[in-house]
Amino acid sequence: IVSPIPTPDYDWQAADAAHHLHPFSDHKSLHQGRVRIITGGEGVYLTDDAGHRILDGMAGLWCVAVGYGRQELVDAATRQMQTLPFYNTFFKTATRPVIALADRLTAMAPGDLNHAFFASSGSEAVDTALRMARTYWITRGKPGKRIILGREYGYHGSTTLGAAAGGMVDMHRQGAVLPDFAHVMPPYWYGYGGQMSPEEFGLYAAKQIEDKIREIGAKSIAAFIGEPIQGAGGVIIPPETYWPEVQRICRENDILLIADEVITGFGRTGRMFGSETFGIAPDIMTLAKAITSGYIPLSAVLVGDRVADVLINETGEFYHGFTYSGHPVACAVALANLDILESEGLAARAEAKGARLRGKLAEALGDMPIVGEIRGVGLIGAIELTADRRTRRFFERRGRVGTICRDHCFANDLVMRAVRDTMVFSPPLTITDDEMDEMVARAARAIAATQ
Ligand code: PLP
Repeated sequence: IVSPIPTPDYDWQAADAAHHLHPFSDHKSLHQGRVRIITGGEGVYLTDDAGHRILDGMAGLWCVAVGYGRQELVDAATRQMQTLPFYNTFFKTATRPVIALADRLTAMAPGDLNHAFFASSGSEAVDTALRMARTYWITRGKPGKRIILGREYGYHGSTTLGAAAGGMVDMHRQGAVLPDFAHVMPPYWYGYGGQMSPEEFGLYAAKQIEDKIREIGAKSIAAFIGEPIQGAGGVIIPPETYWPEVQRICRENDILLIADEVITGFGRTGRMFGSETFGIAPDIMTLAKAITSGYIPLSAVLVGDRVADVLINETGEFYHGFTYSGHPVACAVALANLDILESEGLAARAEAKGARLRGKLAEALGDMPIVGEIRGVGLIGAIELTADRRTRRFFERRGRVGTICRDHCFANDLVMRAVRDTMVFSPPLTITDDEMDEMVARAARAIAATQ
């Protein structure tokens, strides 16, 4: 439903091509074909303007945790819009939804993450976290601690700070580079593990961080930022030995640890937060996406006592914030979304259903020569496509086979994303067994067509 309603002969494709700049898109090739116009959603299914029913194996962009069409969220937004559609949280004001959400999130979060700052996107949350980390050290009289350590294939959003912290070289090449950022290797055992066991490789990857700190000097480093599982980088799941070691290294070198849980937050990994799944006790945590199941933009930065005490009691004014920090409608939707996540036990469900899904994928795809590894935690996972399963050799032109496979999925009315030649998935946490079986069957058809 679009208002004003265009005439029946309105050309949506032509208007899109002429006027709409899509994010992360090559516009020339995009408009050589048709743009698929999504018109509706219910449960785990989307519909498009050609009448197709598409199984969304990505929950939108890793965000629609509770599935599409949840009336509870519509009601929460409607009620709040009718009562108070907007008021800011600057200048000694607040609204009830933002206070209630700060209280509830900090009660749910692990450790001493007792303070919440709000923004609208994951990128803004990351910017905020990095600004907080640097402000913390400036306030403590150590302004030289400025460098942010990130990882190759890390994704921390698309603002310039976030893209510089991330490890996506294509973004760096287009100008998203800044001074005072450095990167280390990802804990990508399948890709880089060679002959090492996962446990050995986890320690090896953590050691690269320690070596980088020695090279740069801890006195210049403000924070290490990492996603518990690197999502957009290809669902890189670290071996169990990795995070405890990273935690130790950060602590010993007095470097803040920022867990970017924009994807892993709110049940995706089988616990409410990825930090719980991997035993991380971060100083700062960034959240977005499933905080509202994507129904309305909202993000949060949770801050532990150590950093918050300094920011609250010593910094004075923190010169940072957004018009929509703590938007009341978004906060009301988040509260209703948390009700669903908790009352339906979706985190625990993700763990059980994820194990089932990986079992079914292994049955259907395990013998295909092109499939090198099927991995996952909770309801986030990946299927590695390989040129040689024995040696785990990558394809020569990386990304080509993945793109072909993704297009086959899409043609089979299944949304899965390709990261290089790794197929990644993160369906709504509400997915049923029958829907999962359908997802596996469609993925198997697409991968078989790719070989
Ligand atoms: N951080 C992580 C880990 C993400 O995966 C993303 C988006 O995918 C972001 C930050 C940026 O979030 P947004 O696109 O809402 O700005």
